[in-house]
Amino acid sequence: MDEQNFQVRVINEEKGKGIFALRAFKEDEIIFEEKPVVCCQFSWNADYGYLACDNCMYPLENAEENVRRLTGKKNLVLPYPEYCEIKKELFAECPECGIKFCSNECLKEAFSKYHRILCSQTRGNKEGHPLEKLKETWKQMHYPPETATIMLLARMIAHVNQADDKSSVLAVYNNFCHKTVNEVHEIAHNLLGEKFIGQIDVLRELLEQTFNKDYVPQWFTPEGFRSLLALVGTNGQGIGTSAFSRWVKNVTALELPTDRRIQIDKFIDQIYDDMDEVVGTFLNNEGSGLYALQSTLNHSCSPNAVVEFPYSNSTLRIKAIRDIQPEDEICIGYLDECELERSRHSRQKLLSSLYLFVCQCDKCIAQADDSDVTSDDDYDHDMSS
Ligand SMILES: [Zn+2]
Ligand SMILES: [Zn+2]
Ligand SMILES: [Zn+2]
Repeated sequence: MDEQNFQVRVINEEKGKGIFALRAFKEDEIIFEEKPVVCCQFSWNADYGYLACDNCMYPLENAEENVRRLTGKKNLVLPYPEYCEIKKELFAECPECGIKFCSNECLKEAFSKYHRILCSQTRGNKEGHPLEKLKETWKQMHYPPETATIMLLARMIAHVNQADDKSSVLAVYNNFCHKTVNEVHEIAHNLLGEKFIGQIDVLRELLEQTFNKDYVPQWFTPEGFRSLLALVGTNGQGIGTSAFSRWVKNVTALELPTDRRIQIDKFIDQIYDDMDEVVGTFLNNEGSGLYALQSTLNHSCSPNAVVEFPYSNSTLRIKAIRDIQPEDEICIGYLDECELERSRHSRQKLLSSLYLFVCQCDKCIAQADDSDVTSDDDYDHDMSS
């Protein structure tokens, strides 16, 4: 990563930090790539059998196994198996608890960063262990579609507790955007919903029973715990990986005779239809991660960069989607493409409820005189589903 190409700057108190280009970037140019400080697969996703490396979320089944599981068709055969990227011979597992990783490198990284503590926790009486109880309690409070997991917080605490240099690890977490007390309440509320907000202390107490809290006592107070949840809620970047989608990408890029092309495209469409019937929109290994640099990128409703996951794991890439001039702020869209096309009023409503800010991007300023109408009447309906 060449940090000469851009710079993190404090913009103002309200907007916080942002990233600015120090040179021109062409459309499609890579601005930077980054591994997460920590990431974690969502709890329901893992329990439903979506198989991913416990450290980097790389798929742990090949494309054919992936499709068989998601379509329920046990005998389905995928042609061109050589275009599946998953290398099972590299997989590794923790000798103590059996948790699986995509490689020895991931096993080693997890062990040196947080797994040593989390692993010793899962030994012995698994069912009754506080960490298992914590996960089950969370699952009862946060149903799919998932946007966060308490296990990411557990990983953060383990990361600090395991570190030789605790203060520098803590400094990394302290660098993430922190919210005011009122905002923290609202974000915790968004994560858990009305029904469960009263049980927030149950989660905190379970964490207390699991970890030595001496190293980060500030995370275990009622206010500190809410603020930690809010940190994960506002900075957590969604991660999705899939062996099948990598295979599709590779096979789609193949040069094939027209007849064969049509046949293969139809075959792929049929698989997506079948998966839709069995699992709906839940196609990926899903989780979320905290990225030190990416989290400082601000939102724009007409962004000049996007987030991609080019390696089918948790390493993300920020790529220019149009030409960027030196001194331009580099911005990504926190909303998806469809949402970015909505009216200014709709976008602002979404951003303020999910991320608690009033968008002042160029597009919003240009549309400031538009009437306060939402894009369509189904909108509130969409959001509640
Ligand atoms: Zn891995
Ligand atoms: Zn282990
Ligand atoms: Zn905007």
